[in-house]
Amino acid sequence: MKINIKEAKSIITKSNIPSIDFVINPYVGCQHGCIYCYAEFMIRFTGHKGEKWGEFLDIKQCDLSKINPHKYDRTSILFSSVTDPYLPLEKKYGNTRKILKSLIGTSAEVEILTKSKLVTRDIDLFKQFDNISIGISISTLDEPFSRIVEPKASKPLDRLDAIKEIHDRGLKTYLFISPFFPGITDYRAIIENTLDHTDHYMFENLNFRPHNIPRINAMIKKYYPQLISLYQELQRNHSYWELLEEEIINFCEKKGIDYRIEFHHGGFSKS
Ligand code: SF4
Repeated sequence: MKINIKEAKSIITKSNIPSIDFVINPYVGCQHGCIYCYAEFMIRFTGHKGEKWGEFLDIKQCDLSKINPHKYDRTSILFSSVTDPYLPLEKKYGNTRKILKSLIGTSAEVEILTKSKLVTRDIDLFKQFDNISIGISISTLDEPFSRIVEPKASKPLDRLDAIKEIHDRGLKTYLFISPFFPGITDYRAIIENTLDHTDHYMFENLNFRPHNIPRINAMIKKYYPQLISLYQELQRNHSYWELLEEEIINFCEKKGIDYRIEFHHGGFSKS
């Protein structure tokens, strides 16, 4: 992993995600190595042309004393959209923690989204925000599958322990069931195992992008050959997602769950 310390003009940037006003990406790059990653396009915009996503990490440096937390009152802020705020190297560099500290006092709706158990380290800071929710992103409870598709993110059960601990400490939590792998993601099992400590569920489909299609196809061919024709079909039409959406709605309504489905969107993805 090539580490670069880089000056950033601004660390809080306007978002192109419809429901979010600002995004904070404390790092450029990501260590988690998800085969479906939607953030790889960042290579082109961050001076990393010719490099491989997952093999570099820019540690953003910025004068955080200039941040006025009240400037963001009544807005929404997401950590993060094109990296994970709790990468293994966050332990050493602490960018996420420092930025969070600089925002204490804001009344903004702050959303944290991660695949890492390291998130529990900052419970003391989360408690100092009036309007914060902590989300864990998960696509499976199956550890071997998780190691194939998200090799360096925390193991699924560690993520569930993290969300439980956060909820037990009185914070609002959500589970982002993403990406949804047809024929593999068992959303019912994920929900049944987390109902007691999750306030809200979100669902996102697996998005096929030119750079991730070969990796997803190769993974399916190797580990789930019985799903090859389904995955080929998914790349051609969306009817599977429409049926699945109906099924999820029925399940969530029956369970009385607070949920949101983000299928079929384009142009952005939360990490
Ligand atoms: S955690 Fe997000 S940004 Fe990092 S590799 Fe996975 S999908 Fe990409």
